[in-house]
Amino acid sequence: MQIKDTFNWNRRDFSANMECEHCGNKQVNRGCYDDSHYYQTVVPNIKCNACGESSNSKSTGELKSVMVPRYEPNRII
Ligand SMILES: [Zn+2]
Repeated sequence: MQIKDTFNWNRRDFSANMECEHCGNKQVNRGCYDDSHYYQTVVPNIKCNACGESSNSKSTGELKSVMVPRYEPNRII
């Protein structure tokens, strides 16, 4: 799944509209967290509700766009 846009920010927690790069299914993820571990490790393993694939389970051959955290890791917000 890939994050298309984000909303409901509360410090580092947010919700995101996600889209499956394999089948185009859209789903909402309300438990997102703004750090690079989340974007690089958690997001690529989120499975699509429709086709069951994640970014890691099946490659599209395209370079993935990875989000960059909005806040620096050690900043107190
Ligand atoms: Zn899918």
